Amino acid sequence: MTGSIPVITVNQRGAARLRGGHVWVYRSDLAAEAPPGALVHVRDERRKRLGSALYSSSSQIAIRLLSSEEITEEALPGLLRARIAGAIEFRRQTARDTDSYRVMFSEADLLPGLIVDKYNDVLAMQALTQAFDRDELRQVVLDSLSEHFPDASVLERVDAHIRKLEELPARDSQLLRGERSSTIFTLNGVRFHFDGLSGQKTGAFLDQRENYAAAARYAHGEALDVFTYQGGFALHLARACQSVTAVDSSRPALEVAEQNEQLNRAQHSCGEIEWTEANAFDLLKDYATAGRQYGTIVLDPPAFAKTRRTVSTALRGYKELNLRALKMLRPGGILVTCSCSFHVSEAEFLEMLGAAAGDAGRRLRILEKHGAAQDHPVLLNVPETAYLKCVICQAES
Ligand code: SAH
Repeated sequence: MTGSIPVITVNQRGAARLRGGHVWVYRSDLAAEAPPGALVHVRDERRKRLGSALYSSSSQIAIRLLSSEEITEEALPGLLRARIAGAIEFRRQTARDTDSYRVMFSEADLLPGLIVDKYNDVLAMQALTQAFDRDELRQVVLDSLSEHFPDASVLERVDAHIRKLEELPARDSQLLRGERSSTIFTLNGVRFHFDGLSGQKTGAFLDQRENYAAAARYAHGEALDVFTYQGGFALHLARACQSVTAVDSSRPALEVAEQNEQLNRAQHSCGEIEWTEANAFDLLKDYATAGRQYGTIVLDPPAFAKTRRTVSTALRGYKELNLRALKMLRPGGILVTCSCSFHVSEAEFLEMLGAAAGDAGRRLRILEKHGAAQDHPVLLNVPETAYLKCVICQAES
């Protein structure tokens, strides 16, 4: 039964995409419009049913498929509750020994437009689409979170840029349930501050959780952590290394990193960490020229390629960083090198790394290759869910 649910017809390309298991249809592949955030039924040009989707009237991604069945508005809350329960159950099985993980990851959990991160006893929710900004859907999410995590506070983290893109009214980040908006959380035994509402917001790149632990297994000597943010890798390296130089261009991020260091110093002996505010490109050049040498170097830059068109420029950036780092690695030294650009494929990233090693005159052995932690699942049919690459390698002695 369709009732008053709008029906959207998608062209052949859109239909092929959905039949191939992707969940997005771009605006250029559909004819009709629907109200912002509406539940819609999707059909191909021969009126064959493709399922139910959430519609955005402003995003280029006009349709995000929810189900290959045509569901009613009344059935929507039940479907969402079941998806949320499934996402939580998956983490309960896979995210062990941590109080913090991504509880729901949008498309990867078939909840397109919804992200929830757990930082110990505080849940941070992000509604990224018109649909998940609808009061009834927010209520379903909040009620489910209260049911599954009765003791946790829930806050909403707002990305002003995304609300603008979705043509949603501006809103501040806010506490939705409970009283706590800040807490201390632990990844692999390393403690971090989380504050979801202060001017100086904190949080973590939870997708690197397993990679922090992997890096720490090989780290040794003097270490350099480039693009440290709030010290994610640096604090892990400090447990295994004599000293760590941790670099970022953001002073506020480094201030939180220092506070994180204090949290850990009380409990654990660890190597000295020197927090250094600098542009990574300039600093690597200067350090390489000065002949500095390291046993371990981590490179975890922001996404250099935001679109397919910028991939070649991005690869040049990655190559420059990796080349300079490789020149500073001691024999037997460890390079942990990452890219979170979805548009740069793993094959392109490895090819770049091989070329950088060639130019540096070093042979590199790959020790481990990883993506994001398991609480950031990859849906093979939605390649955008696989974005992070983290390669751990060793320079020959
Ligand atoms: N490794 C971090 C995440 C890094 S995010 C972790 O595991 O938590 C990318 C970081 O790069 C941000 O903190 C940003 O401030 C920093 N950054 C961006 N451009 C930079 C530049 N040119 N030089 C130094 N830092 C930069």
